[in-house]
Amino acid sequence: MSGVGPALQATLAKLGIERLQDLWFHLPLRYEDKTRITAIADLRPGDQAQIEGRVDAVERGFRFRPQLRVAISDGSNQTLVLRFFHFRGSQADQLKPGTRIRCYGEVRHGAQGFEIVHPQYERLLDDAISVVEDRLTPIYPTTEGLGHKRLAGVIERALKLLPDAASLELIPSELCAKYRLGSLRDALLFVHRPPPQANLAQIAIGEHPAQQRLAFEELLTHHLSLKRLRAQIRERRAPVLRGGGEQRGAFIAQLPFALTGAQQRVLDEIARDLASAKPMLRLVQGDVGSGKTVVAALAALHAIEAGAQVALVAPTELLAEQHLRSFLQWFEPLGIKVIWLAGKVQGRARRTALDALKTDADIVIGTHALMQEGVEFRHLGLAIIDEQHRFGVHQRMALRDKGRTGDGIPHQLVLTATPIPRTLAMTAYADLDVSVIDELPPGRTPVTTVAISNARRGEIVERIRAACALGRQAYWVCTLIEESDVLEAQAAEVSHAELTAALPELRIGLVHGRLKPAEKQAVMAAFKNGELALLIATTVIEVGVDVPNASLMVIENAERLGLSQLHQLRGRVGRGSQASSCVLLYQMPLSGTARQRLEVMRETTDGFRIAEKDLELRGPGELLGTRQTGRIGFRIADLLRDAKLLPAVQEVGAVLLEKYPQQAERLITRWVGGAARYAGT
Ligand code: ADP
Ligand code: MG
Repeated sequence: MSGVGPALQATLAKLGIERLQDLWFHLPLRYEDKTRITAIADLRPGDQAQIEGRVDAVERGFRFRPQLRVAISDGSNQTLVLRFFHFRGSQADQLKPGTRIRCYGEVRHGAQGFEIVHPQYERLLDDAISVVEDRLTPIYPTTEGLGHKRLAGVIERALKLLPDAASLELIPSELCAKYRLGSLRDALLFVHRPPPQANLAQIAIGEHPAQQRLAFEELLTHHLSLKRLRAQIRERRAPVLRGGGEQRGAFIAQLPFALTGAQQRVLDEIARDLASAKPMLRLVQGDVGSGKTVVAALAALHAIEAGAQVALVAPTELLAEQHLRSFLQWFEPLGIKVIWLAGKVQGRARRTALDALKTDADIVIGTHALMQEGVEFRHLGLAIIDEQHRFGVHQRMALRDKGRTGDGIPHQLVLTATPIPRTLAMTAYADLDVSVIDELPPGRTPVTTVAISNARRGEIVERIRAACALGRQAYWVCTLIEESDVLEAQAAEVSHAELTAALPELRIGLVHGRLKPAEKQAVMAAFKNGELALLIATTVIEVGVDVPNASLMVIENAERLGLSQLHQLRGRVGRGSQASSCVLLYQMPLSGTARQRLEVMRETTDGFRIAEKDLELRGPGELLGTRQTGRIGFRIADLLRDAKLLPAVQEVGAVLLEKYPQQAERLITRWVGGAARYAGT
C-alpha cells in the first residue's frame, strides 16, 4: 500500500489489512459521540458523554487499591467524579484544582453522584475556544501498537481513494434494483463517517440502512464462500462405501425399539451419499431426544462394513465419554474395534491409540484432540461430528484433512440439536446438505414445565424428595452468566452442600467441568445405573447426556439462560416413558425478555418454535456485543439480527453463482480476503 511504511504495514497485516480495499472494509465496532458537550446536570447513568469542566478537588486514596479521584464541575451546580485505578503520579500533578479539562466516558452512579471510571480526557488551555468533533468518532478494531487515532487516520486517507460508486459495486445493477440495495459507496462513507445528526440509537443496534446494506453484502459473501467451498470439496473424490448390511442388520435386531420413520429416511439419505464417490457433506438436524446417536451408529457401521475407518468427535469430554460407552456396548459384540482418544489420553495410552488408528482400529471416538497433529488413519472413510454448534467450520476441515489419503477425502456427517430456522440454516450451513429428523420416538410423554420463584425453593426440594422416593431420578442444574468453569463449579458445590444437608436420605452426585475425566465418568455412570438419585450439575450436561430414568430437572437461575440453552438442558428429561417435568427456578426481579423466555418454555417443547421465538426475542440489547453469534466472526452482519435479509441473500447468491461467477469471486476476495485462503483445499 502506498504511503504506508513497512512497520505500519506489518501491524496492519495483523488486522488482516493488506490491501487498500481492506482499509475500506475495516468497519467500526462502535462510535463515540464527541459532537457535543453535555452539562453535568443533564447526565444520565449509562450515557456515553463528553463533559467539559474545571477540577474542584483531587484525592489520591488507597481504599482497597490505589486510586485517583478527581471532582470536576461545570457551573451546572453538580459535580462529576473521575476515578482512575491505573495512573501515574504525573497525572495527579497535572490535574490540579482549577485545571480546565474535557473528558469522555460512560457515566454511572458513584458513591457521591455520578462518576466516570477511566475516562478519556485532555487538558484544555484556559482561554481555548471549545471545539467539538463535527461527526461521530468511529472506533475500529485494532491491535497492540496501533492507536485508535492513528488507525482512523490511515482509514480516512484510504477513503479519499474510494473509486466512484459504479466501479465499487460488485453486485450487478439489475440485482441492486430488484432487491432495493442502496449505493455501497454511500453506505461505506456513512459507517466510516456518520454525520452528527445520524440516528445513534439505530446505529448502535446495527439497523441503519447503511449498516444493513453492508451486512447484506457480507452475508452474501459468506454464503458464496461456503457454496464455493462446497463445490471445491465436491470435486474431490471420497471412498465409495457399500457395506453388505450384515452388521447394520445385527445392530438393529438387538435394539430394544424400532427406528422411527424419520430416522430411517435420514439413514437412507446417508447411505446414498456414502455409496457415491463424491464426498458427503451432510448435516443431520434433530431436536434433542430425536435419536441422532443411533443414526450416527448406523452410518458408522455402514462405513465399517465397507472396510473404512470412522472418527466420531464430540465437543466435550463428557459427551464423548458417553458416546464411547454406548458404542463399546453396541459394537464390541459385533467384533468392531473401538478406540478412545481425548486430550487427556497421553503417553503410552496415546501411542497405543495412535498405532491402532494406523492399523486395525475401526472407529475412534474422542474430542477435538482427534483433529490434532500426529493423528493419522489407515483409511478414514467417514468423519462424524456431533453437536456441531460448538465447532467452527475450520475444525471440521481439519478433520477432513486427516483423512486425505490416496483415496481422496472422508465423507462428513454433522449432527446438531440446534434447531435453526430453515432460512438461517441455508446460510449458516450453506456448505452442507441438510436432513431433518422431524419425529420423536413414540411413547414419549411431553415434559411439563413450570417457572417458580427462587423464594419457593423449599417446595422444590420437597418435590425432589417425593420423586426420588418413588425411584425417579433428578437433575439440579446450576447456571451462571459468565462462562467460567471455575465459578460455575463453585456455584454447583454450594448447591451440592445445601441439597445434601436438606436431603440426607438421598445419594447425591456432583458433576462439573473442573472434575477429572475419570471422576466425571464415574459420577455419570453412577447416575446412569441408578446408584445416585440426584445429580447436581453445571451446564456441562447441556448436550447429549442420556439417562432415560431421570424425569425431573430443576434449573437454577433459569432467567439467565437463553432459550436454546434452556431447551437443550430440558431435553435431558422426557427421554423415558414416565411423565417428566422441568422446574425453572428464577430470581426476581425478572427482565421483560427473561419473563417472555420462561413463558415460551412453559408453552412449548417444540425446538423449532423455540428457535423462532429465540430469534424474535433477542432484543437489540442482547444482541450488542454478540456479533460473533454463530460460527463466524462477521465484521458487521449478525446472523440472528439480520436473518430477515437471508432470503434475498440466497436469491442474489444463486443468480451470482449462475450468471456472474467472476463477480462472486471478487466479492469473496473483497470481504474474506486473506481469510479465504483456508477455504482453498
Ligand atoms: P439425541 O438426538 O438428543 O442425540 P439420543 O440419540 O441420545 O438423542 O436418543 C435419545 C434416547 O432415545 C436414547 O435413550 C435412545 O436410546 C432413544 N431412542 C433413539 N431412537 C429411538 C427409537 N426409534 N425409538 C425409541 N427410542 C429411541
Ligand atoms: Mg445426542
